[in-house]
Amino acid sequence: MTPQQAIKDQQLSPWVIETRHLYKRFGQVVALEDINLKIKRGEFVAIMGASGSGKTTLMNILTCLDTVSDGQVLLDGVDAAGLDEEGRRAFRSDKIGLVFQQFHLIPFLTALENVMLAQHYHSVVDEAAARSVLDQVGLAHRFDHLPSQLSGGEQQRVCIARALVNEPPVIFADEPTGNLDEQNEQMVLGLLTELHKLGRTIVMVTHNPELGKFADRIVRLQHGKYQGEELNAAEGKSQEVEHAS
Ligand code: ADP
Ligand code: MG
Repeated sequence: MTPQQAIKDQQLSPWVIETRHLYKRFGQVVALEDINLKIKRGEFVAIMGASGSGKTTLMNILTCLDTVSDGQVLLDGVDAAGLDEEGRRAFRSDKIGLVFQQFHLIPFLTALENVMLAQHYHSVVDEAAARSVLDQVGLAHRFDHLPSQLSGGEQQRVCIARALVNEPPVIFADEPTGNLDEQNEQMVLGLLTELHKLGRTIVMVTHNPELGKFADRIVRLQHGKYQGEELNAAEGKSQEVEHAS
């Protein structure tokens, strides 16, 4: 099946992400067990849990870097399991913006070129659009700098610009401030919050409770199982919610 067919076949769903009875096993290890997760368009969700609870495994599956052992994952209404390798690559570049702890910028390309590379893999290069998205993250004065000439906070802003440039329905951030000092951590969280206010869907994986406070909802994993979730009220107070199954 081509991605075009898959997208044509999709049922328009209110959920931008939905997992149904998702299991992931690595040999005898059950890394994820019966995960039923629904994320609404425009939501900012933090996935939290101790080391080894399955966060990275879940992130890899939601971003089509890994496949499920059982169950289903729908991203923007499409089950990528039905796509071939090329289809999955196109699907990922269309649907997913990724922000990593380790930045993963190409060291010999400038900030602008790193953003344009993401456009190249997606569709066509549009320098004006790439400049505009770097401007949006406050880097208009750093277009021609190499990653080594940028601070950690600036590199992470390039990553956010790269994640945004193809306008994907979901931005995934995996410990996005793990390599940043406190000031840059606040800047990156401020930027993610701003993008969320502009209507973007954001899924952030973190073990840091301070970061979870910025999300609308915190979903907790423990030993690969759904442990519960809380809504963050506007005043910043958390409240327990019923298990959504
Ligand atoms: P977290 O990101 O929350 O720290 P992970 O998703 O990395 O947790 O890991 C969840 C569990 O799955 C752990 O017990 C880990 O050892 C196991 N696991 C993860 N990836 C693999 C793998 N490729 N092979 C075997 N076990 C794995
Ligand atoms: Mg991890």
